[in-house]
Amino acid sequence: MKYIQPFDPWKSSLCTCPPKYSLNPYTGCGHGCLYCYATSFIKNFYSPRPKKDFLKIVIKDLVKLPKNSLISLSNSSDPYQPLENLYEHTKKFLNFLLGTSYRVLIITKSDLILRDIKLLTKLRCAVSITITSKTLSKKLEPGAPGYKNRLKAVKILSEAGIPVSVRLDPIIPGLNEKEIFEILDEIVPYVKHITVSTYKARPDSLKRLINAFPEKKKLLEELYLEKGKRLSGAIYLPDKLRYKLIKPLYEKAKKYNLSFATCREALDKFKNPGKCDGSFLII
Ligand code: SF4
Repeated sequence: MKYIQPFDPWKSSLCTCPPKYSLNPYTGCGHGCLYCYATSFIKNFYSPRPKKDFLKIVIKDLVKLPKNSLISLSNSSDPYQPLENLYEHTKKFLNFLLGTSYRVLIITKSDLILRDIKLLTKLRCAVSITITSKTLSKKLEPGAPGYKNRLKAVKILSEAGIPVSVRLDPIIPGLNEKEIFEILDEIVPYVKHITVSTYKARPDSLKRLINAFPEKKKLLEELYLEKGKRLSGAIYLPDKLRYKLIKPLYEKAKKYNLSFATCREALDKFKNPGKCDGSFLII
């Protein structure tokens, strides 16, 4: 298969996702998130381009998948990044799924997804909207829609009966942990599941964050470069600090009776295998 690939083919013990496939309609991403991990393995990542012969190749890939397969859209780009306005690869793919048995999980930061809302109501799908900050998105995610637009997307999708979860991540110490705690209160009426995770540094993303927030240089270098630990190609915050950042969110989610999971945290208390990505919400 060329464009649809098994998700996590390395079967990392850090990943608790259910078995699924991954599809990126674009190479690279125009949302330009400073913390993005994909920049470390995809060339010219911030100069996104459409995949060549996208639908033709994807249709060939699709017929090789077992019935009811779960396809995650997308894990190394955003399916509703600005290029989607021009090329509509995501929309074309979703249209093709109509009437098939395939399930689709859409992960996005963009309210452009609302353009396809009618289509989504006819599919076996769930949507995961990522929200990182209320006030810092212009700096942290310069090409992505801001907080209000994402919250609007969560509300409208949920009111249309589409299962929605929210990823509250990445939590970057000293930058957004307080805001993430507050955002949880605002999304509660619209979601049944949240996923949280801390920022896992890579040399290039850490450099970008420090350049954008020079006042946090000392803190970030101390926590990641001096005290952090290396796991699976990334630098993690110390275990105790990850625990401390996640625990209040876990407790608040419990209070609200929300399903809760973490992503690649390697902290047993918060593991929720098979449920972490919110795909279990697909009817
Ligand atoms: S939206 Fe996702 S893929 Fe795109 S730049 Fe941001 S983190 Fe990377």
